[in-house]
Amino acid sequence: MRLVLLGPPGAGKGTQARHLADRLGLQVIATGDIFRRKVAEDTELGRVAKRYLDAGELVPDDVTIGMVVAAIDEGPAGFILDGFPRTIPQAEALERELAERGMAISAALAFVLDDEVAVARIAGRRTCAKCQTPYNVVFNPPRVSGVCDVCGGPLVQRTDEKEETVRRRLAVYRESTAPLLEFYAERGLLREVDASAPESEVTERAVETLKALKDGSPAPA
Ligand code: AMP
Repeated sequence: MRLVLLGPPGAGKGTQARHLADRLGLQVIATGDIFRRKVAEDTELGRVAKRYLDAGELVPDDVTIGMVVAAIDEGPAGFILDGFPRTIPQAEALERELAERGMAISAALAFVLDDEVAVARIAGRRTCAKCQTPYNVVFNPPRVSGVCDVCGGPLVQRTDEKEETVRRRLAVYRESTAPLLEFYAERGLLREVDASAPESEVTERAVETLKALKDGSPAPA
C-alpha cells in the first residue's frame, strides 16, 4: 500500500503516519523530517532548505521532488508520504515517477481540522531532538516532562512552530496544498478523516477507511 497524507499543519499527520506505519507495516517518508535532518547535518541541501523552513515557506519543487524520489527508490515498496506532495506539480511528478516504476498511490488520506484548533495544537507541540518523536504538552504529553519516552532525548519546540510562522504555514497550505484534495478526489483516491477526535480514535478511523479501500467497499460517509 502506498499512501499520501494530507491536512493542515497541526492535524497530527506526523503522529498518525507513525501509528499507521506500525499497524500496516509501511515505511514513513516525511519530507519535513528529512529536511530538518539535512539542516542539522549542515549538508548542501540542508543549507538551501533552512531559510525556507525558518520562514514557513515551501522548499522549491525540484529540490523536494528529487529528495523524495531518492527515498522511494531506497526504501520498501509500501510507504506513507507525510508532507509530500504539497503542490500540484509535486503530485504530478509523483504520479509520473511512480508510473515509471510500475507503481501508483493507493489512497490520499486527508485529515480535516479547523485553523484555530491547528494553531492551538501546534503551540503545545514538542519534538524529540534525537529521534523526532512528536509530543503535545496538552494532548499527548511524554511520561516525564521534557524527556522523550522512546529514546530519552530532550524535547524541544521547533523554530517553525512559533505562532507567526504557523499562520504563514496555514496560509501556504490553503494556497498551495488544499488544491491537492481536488486532484486526488478526481482520481477517486481521496478519503477524509476528522482529525479533531482523540489521537487513537483518528488512527482507528483511518485504519477502517483503508480497510474499506482494500475490500473494495465505498468510503464511509
Ligand atoms: P512539515 O514538518 O511537514 O510541516 O514540514 C516543515 C517544512 O519543511 C515546511 O514548512 C517546508 O518548509 C518544508 N517542506 C516539507 N515538505 C515539503 C514539500 N513537500 N515541499 C516543499 N517544502 C516542504
